[in-house]
Amino acid sequence: MSEKTKIIKLPEEVVSKIAAGEVVANPASVVKELVENSIDAGASNIEVQIKDGGKSYIKVVDNGSGMSKEDLLLAVQRYTTSKISSLEDIYNITSYGFRGEALASIGEVSRLVITTSDGIESHKLEMVGGKLVKVAETFREKGTTVEVHDLFFNIPARRKFLSSEKIERRMVTEVIERFLLTKPEIRFLFKVDEEIVYNAPASSLPDRFKLIFPEVKSFEVIDNYVNSSVSISGIISSPQFFRKNRSGQLFFVNGRFVLDNLLHLSLERGYGESLVESTHPYAVIFINIPPNEVDVNIHPQKLQVKFSEPRVVYDAIARCVRDTLRKFEGFQLFVEKI
Ligand code: ADP
Ligand code: MG
Repeated sequence: MSEKTKIIKLPEEVVSKIAAGEVVANPASVVKELVENSIDAGASNIEVQIKDGGKSYIKVVDNGSGMSKEDLLLAVQRYTTSKISSLEDIYNITSYGFRGEALASIGEVSRLVITTSDGIESHKLEMVGGKLVKVAETFREKGTTVEVHDLFFNIPARRKFLSSEKIERRMVTEVIERFLLTKPEIRFLFKVDEEIVYNAPASSLPDRFKLIFPEVKSFEVIDNYVNSSVSISGIISSPQFFRKNRSGQLFFVNGRFVLDNLLHLSLERGYGESLVESTHPYAVIFINIPPNEVDVNIHPQKLQVKFSEPRVVYDAIARCVRDTLRKFEGFQLFVEKI
């Protein structure tokens, strides 16, 4: 380095660890990426297990398409994907993934084991801290198993900043619950250590809602409410069932979970007078909107959403909630037994 320069080019080793940190924040983000991959692979059965809040072990097993040996070797490299081939494809994307970064990033910061079969051949790959250590033939049924051991074992500073077992487990559970709600047609098994937390056969949204929010005895289904280009479906609780915070309200835009305060406020605006002060009803709302009218910033860690015409969306939610609430009043309160 000459005396005049302060700037250095970071070694590849450092660059790849920084990049990995963008995708992999904690066990919950690993589980999210792996389950998304299983769904993208067309799985109808997905099993997830975590140990120590996911800090020491995460396993995701699916019965999806699986991979050939060649694809398996490509899958763990950065920016390798089977889901898009050009920039335009991003605007019409129907899969969760497309960046081709998740497996490479996870492999960079853990001991990663992938066992996969495309129904013709089966292989097992092992990677440690970004280095491929083994690929061998094995046997399994069609599908893929991904195991992630000792997340951030090679970045102690990151590992130290992981939360307690309890908090990491809660965050993973929330990720699983979002998938349970968005994909009721998929069977999910979720185990924490050796204990089964969810064993959910393929079913319907109302069944999944009852599974996750068993305390809600009265709710209504919103069945494809359309207003201009926005269509809304989901479930809202009767105003008598509420939490003291908004943790029982989940919003999805084009199938992706999003965080947006104005969505919560529009929902509660729809409830209007029926809500007692500082009570927050339950809701699972799916907003479908043409991809060109929304920017779900699909950065893996950002869940914000930007609508090109926000008022249209927020008003549609309020109105559709107001209309749906009439069902509670018009008919006898619809009480679900579980
Ligand atoms: P992306 O999902 O953005 O394509 P990933 O790094 O998550 O990137 O995965 C890379 C590729 O590996 C995917 O495009 C897919 O072809 C393959 N892959 C990953 N997970 C699975 C799986 N569970 N089943 C089948 N193929 C998978
Ligand atoms: Mg992916």
